[in-house]
Amino acid sequence: VPPQSFGRAAVHPVHDFDPNAIALPTGHLVGGRTVPGDGPAIAVRRPSDGVVYAEIPEAGEAGVDIAVRDASQAQQRSGWGECPPRERGAVLHRWADLIMENRLELAQLEALNSTRCIADAYNAEVPFTAEAIRFFAECADKYSGDVLPTRSRRLGMVMPEPYGVVGAIAPWNFPLSMASWKCGAALAAGNAIVLKPSELTPFSTLRLAELALQAGLPAGVFNVVQGSGQATGAALVRHALVRKVSFTGSTQTGRSVMTDAAHHGMKPVTLELGGKSPQLVFDDAGDVATVALRIARGFMANAGQACVAGTRLVVQRGIAEALVADIVHQAVQVIPGLTWKARSQFAPLISQRQAEKVHGAVSSTITAGAEALCGGKFFEGFDGGYFYQPTVLAGLRPGTPALEEEIFGPVLTVQVFDDEDEGLSLVSHDVYGLAAGVHTMDIGRAMRATRYIVAGTVWVNRYGRTNDFIVPTGGFNGSGIGKDLGRQAFEANLRQKSVLLDF
Ligand code: NAD
Repeated sequence: VPPQSFGRAAVHPVHDFDPNAIALPTGHLVGGRTVPGDGPAIAVRRPSDGVVYAEIPEAGEAGVDIAVRDASQAQQRSGWGECPPRERGAVLHRWADLIMENRLELAQLEALNSTRCIADAYNAEVPFTAEAIRFFAECADKYSGDVLPTRSRRLGMVMPEPYGVVGAIAPWNFPLSMASWKCGAALAAGNAIVLKPSELTPFSTLRLAELALQAGLPAGVFNVVQGSGQATGAALVRHALVRKVSFTGSTQTGRSVMTDAAHHGMKPVTLELGGKSPQLVFDDAGDVATVALRIARGFMANAGQACVAGTRLVVQRGIAEALVADIVHQAVQVIPGLTWKARSQFAPLISQRQAEKVHGAVSSTITAGAEALCGGKFFEGFDGGYFYQPTVLAGLRPGTPALEEEIFGPVLTVQVFDDEDEGLSLVSHDVYGLAAGVHTMDIGRAMRATRYIVAGTVWVNRYGRTNDFIVPTGGFNGSGIGKDLGRQAFEANLRQKSVLLDF
């Protein structure tokens, strides 16, 4: 069982590496150079063993100001926004080439600073990052404005143009992918970008940006500032020269980002936020083992630290017992391990704070009467790291935390239904609408469920994103606004100017 792989089994063998021997990029990247920070240092811990292995300098308001001004000037001076789009595409393609040439280094940095095990970082995260950038490179010259009929001797035109500087803020759960989705789209459209990675996972993204410059991106068009959300992130969103904000993170932070963006220049926002995604399985879903694997991967990938994790199993009674037994069977077989070990399949939680959140939600759900069919505790033998056992909870009362809140850990709830209407009524969620899975061999039933479900993505007879970069991703309701990936994400990085010409 390769639960860590986000929908695709590992294909290349990898080797253990020494986490103490990895060279880390440092500082902030501004104007093509590494610069020191102007705020306090922040300690960075390895998720696998909690060891503080580095510090990052925080960019305060002044540091962010320098980075954004520099980006704004670079975007105008370098002609990045005005050069033939095909040339921008070519630079992005070279960037993707360099990512693949430096695949091992990036994978090791990712495995060191995030929760991705090295096999998964090498076989999924890094190649997917390169492919996402290639997708946007291909968008660059496949988009045009419009010429509109108005009246004789007058021409109406819609001319797309880049915003200027896009401020991007990324979470810790898939640092490279999240950065590539945001930066690839913004850069392909001709914007400069100032990116703030999560303070928990600062290094892989910094290296990614260095490679973009090496690929020929003009200095200053891609700047990276490090620091906390409260200081660096908020200063970025509020900066007057940032004309669009692209954010991925929790719903709570997204709310504050949107408020800040509204109060500081009425900036458009793309918000990719949290989820509590259901997996709706009907009796006619097909081979039980196949469906069980889908569900198991859906909630265990990256130890459940995925926005689209399918954490609510809503299953029809006829298949429920066999399916749940198979999922539990897979859950108890996962191989947890330090992220720098080749054999490790199952990720640690990112931090002590996250560990307390996950275990707290599970414990209070059990106290409220639920039964843990497996898990409910940490794996033993990991000093300083928090590896939480995949947990399947049944017998839940409506309203218990595990059913309502995004736990962001490897926790699956089970609810059983008898008929289609009851199943559909159970999948709804008051807050979130990010993703859902529907598993049935009856196409009519699949389409009825798909039409009914309020979610930005519905997977039918599969679950999870792999390399479908052409398909946009994004949530409804509390799960966000706008799209990452797809043509839509590219277009969201352009504003449309209407031009009327009399002749
Ligand atoms: P988070 O909201 O705590 O932080 C996300 C980023 O925002 C970090 O870089 C953080 O430093 C920054 N930040 C925090 N406060 C800020 C503020 N006031 N102003 C500006 N920036 C601020 O989220 P996280 O814990 O890093 O990531 C996990 C969350 O991200 C989960 O809720 C998950 O569902 C969500 N997520 C969503 C998607 C998606 O595509 N919908 C993808 C990945 C993760």
